[in-house]
Amino acid sequence: MTHMNEEKVIGIPRAMSFYHNYPFYYGFFGDLGIKIVLSDVTTKQTMSEGAGLVVTETCLPIKIYVGHILNLLKKGIKNIFVPSLQSVDTKIYNCSKIRGLPDLIRNVVKEDFNMIEATLDKSEKNQGLYEFLSECVKPFGITDKNLIKRASKAGWRCYNNFHVMTKSGMPYSKALSYALQGKVVIGNESKEYPISIALVGHGYNIYDERACMKIVDKLEKMDVKVCTALQLSSEQLDEGIQSLGNEKYWANEDEMTGTAGHYLKDNKIDGIVTVTAFGCGPDSLMVERITRKAKQFGKPLLNLTIDEQTGEAGFVTRLEAFVDMLFRKKRASIVNKINIDKNEHNQYTLNTNMIETKS
Ligand code: SF4
Repeated sequence: MTHMNEEKVIGIPRAMSFYHNYPFYYGFFGDLGIKIVLSDVTTKQTMSEGAGLVVTETCLPIKIYVGHILNLLKKGIKNIFVPSLQSVDTKIYNCSKIRGLPDLIRNVVKEDFNMIEATLDKSEKNQGLYEFLSECVKPFGITDKNLIKRASKAGWRCYNNFHVMTKSGMPYSKALSYALQGKVVIGNESKEYPISIALVGHGYNIYDERACMKIVDKLEKMDVKVCTALQLSSEQLDEGIQSLGNEKYWANEDEMTGTAGHYLKDNKIDGIVTVTAFGCGPDSLMVERITRKAKQFGKPLLNLTIDEQTGEAGFVTRLEAFVDMLFRKKRASIVNKINIDKNEHNQYTLNTNMIETKS
């Protein structure tokens, strides 16, 4: 499908690796004068069109990905970026569906387009980042090593800026917007939340607002502080994986066992919510381990599974019930503490308003 093309426009599906790597892609392609056209945000139509082309058992993120390719084709985009991200570090692999994305797309999308199917495989010699980036831009006639290296630096700059901001506590979309403007703004999170939850899931599941029905917004509206992998350093994530007795094997283990392992030990976190796609093999194994460990730590846990049939009403009901339980638990622990203080000092003021913010 791929052949040389003079036009310097690349279509990037707003799905899968977009949620991890877009700041890098933006800096990299932009530096080489390649214009990026993104697919539109996920809608019900994106999901149903994507789902219509693949077998039912395919996980939701892949169905969404296919829908985004169709969206780019409708926009008339002919060069579409479909990377094959095999291994992102030595002996650290992506799941077979991510690895085989170009083959999957070739088999299910029949329209003619130039698929830019660069392969990243850090477990293989000669298939590292430089080779991957060279493959990305070869179809645009760019082969100059120095230009590619310079663009790579621009990509890392944008990517690192994004991560500096998310680690300071800035929400995903705000940090992305500043990073794309070339800005670094360190957020000053002043709002205090009575309850904190660790949201555990892949970026493409929790930041695709249609896929997980704006879960972050919903929790914040319930007066819950949401903590994710984006606030953690790679050392904290590695430690989290180890604390669950795990060896890192899956590329997206940081977002699952690493995040859960870290926040399970954090006393400021009142509960854990995992979001996984129905039919995801790696996630089902990781969630099982997280569930076992959460029991040991006595940390409340809610497992949510998403697919294109997931109804918003049921999803919200489960979330609300979980958050209600956390509020009750917190209230009870404050009252207990006050009773202890009362015994010590023979006087107390009962004030749990701070956690009564849910009308
Ligand atoms: S890791 Fe799971 S959700 Fe992600 S693409 Fe693979 S099977 Fe789908």
